[in-house]
Amino acid sequence: MLAERDITSSFLHYRRLLGVAGIGVVAAIGSALVRDHAPAGSALHAISGGLLLTLLIGLLAIVGATYFWFRSSLRHLTKTQQERMREVHTDALTGAMARAPFLNRMKMAIAESSKCAVGYIHIDMDNLKVINDNYGHKAGDVALAHMVRVLRAIAPEALIGRLGGDEFAVLVLDIDSKEALEALAQKMLAQLNEPVDIHGLYLQLSATLGCALAPIDGDCLENLLANADLALYVGKGSGRGKVVGFDKEMSADESYRRFIQRELRGALILNQLDVHYQPIVDIHGRDVGYYEALLRWQHPYRGFISPAHFIPIAERSTLIDSLGDWVLARVCQDLADLKAKSVSVNVSLVQLRRPEFSARFLAILAQFGTSTASIVVEVTETVRMTSDAVEMRNLDALMAAGIRISIDDFGSGATSLDYLRRLRFDAIKIDRSYITNIARDPVGMALVAAISNIGRALDIRVVAEGVETEEQFRLLQAAGCTHIQGYLFGKPCPVVRSSKVHVLDEEPALKVAI
Ligand code: C2E
Ligand code: MG
Ligand code: MG
Repeated sequence: MLAERDITSSFLHYRRLLGVAGIGVVAAIGSALVRDHAPAGSALHAISGGLLLTLLIGLLAIVGATYFWFRSSLRHLTKTQQERMREVHTDALTGAMARAPFLNRMKMAIAESSKCAVGYIHIDMDNLKVINDNYGHKAGDVALAHMVRVLRAIAPEALIGRLGGDEFAVLVLDIDSKEALEALAQKMLAQLNEPVDIHGLYLQLSATLGCALAPIDGDCLENLLANADLALYVGKGSGRGKVVGFDKEMSADESYRRFIQRELRGALILNQLDVHYQPIVDIHGRDVGYYEALLRWQHPYRGFISPAHFIPIAERSTLIDSLGDWVLARVCQDLADLKAKSVSVNVSLVQLRRPEFSARFLAILAQFGTSTASIVVEVTETVRMTSDAVEMRNLDALMAAGIRISIDDFGSGATSLDYLRRLRFDAIKIDRSYITNIARDPVGMALVAAISNIGRALDIRVVAEGVETEEQFRLLQAAGCTHIQGYLFGKPCPVVRSSKVHVLDEEPALKVAI
């Protein structure tokens, strides 16, 4: 707006000056004519001569003033336009390039990538939502600005763009290799993991970074973006907080998913899956016979694949139901060897949405003669609370049969306090993100104490997840948690089996009428 106003006011000034100059020129011509016709030496000749001279000097002054005025206006205009361009091209909060100009610049760089390779890093902040929810949006803004400062410090020559929300991108021109690009991304991640002072709180930022190199991983904007995004997706699926370089095998998202699904189906048949058990100890650290069952997949040539990675893929098909049945059957058979009082099994919301879920579940327990009292079902996501919802009917049926229900990852964003009022839970499991920083995060500590109070009021167990240090353990005791789960008291381990495990019947639900 500033520029338009400047142009209009300058234009008015020039018009006025032109008017004055026009009058001056007419007056000068008039004076010259009078001077020519007046007899030489007469008073009229002398006056008109003086007037002519004055008018000429005045006109010269007007021309000079107009020139300098015009030049300074032009300069001012260029400056405002540049500022305006910068505003349009820059993200005001972080100072990173805005999405559209960044992608334009990237497109141009990729077009030249046959001459020199171009690296692209797609960055997704893992914990912005947690920071926003726990410490407010101002703290979230500081975290975002810090993120860009870190990227700039590690790669001063690179172009840094904000693609939106908590997603950033780095364009590294002229980089040798994918290894060099991933090493740069690792440096960024390491620096981001350093605690940072945000409004007096020392918070640790976390991010997942997907890397791709043009032209080998994509020789046009769309392909390079899609492939880096796929690498990012894989990183997020396998536990977040890591750097993942695009690998041709990931290729298109769809075919990668199909690949995992095919391999998982094979793993089920070829017995490549296992269940490991992690103890949930009491608040004094004593083993009380509670365990959580965690699915394990050791791929013959890809090695260990995390359930955090393959469960979301299995959830997109009926594979999740087969995996769920398989885990439950294995748990039923392991209960005696574990000498467990109860074992928690994770159940996905997708499973809960199948109308026949509770019947299948109870049928498996019946098939192995397992008491419902020894099984706890862990649900993570918000179940629709209306009584006619399928999820609710399934949970009601399980509870009516004597199975206890725990809320998993409480506080990770999906669950709400309202949840606790409506359903009779057996335990609340507080998400690891609250526990990791508990020593340095008074708000987290207060929240854990508040949840423990609620647990006490409702007479339910409060389990702290992911406890790794003595210091965290002591603070959780002080906060009033009733149980602890974490590497400090035991990592998930296989059970020593006294007898061969049996294969699950094809259709368990058909065997038992409920
Ligand atoms: P979850 O149910 O919250 O399980 C706890 C996760 O935290 C496990 O990861 C466990 O190994 C990890 N953990 C426990 N203590 C610590 C600790 O002290 N430090 C750290 N860093 N991690 C700790 P895991 O086994 O990778 O499982 C990830 C998620 O995958 C589980 O989170 C659960 O949501 C899902 N999952 C695992 N098994 C199954 C399953 O049989 N069915 C379904 N539907 N989901 C499963
Ligand atoms: Mg769990
Ligand atoms: Mg959990």
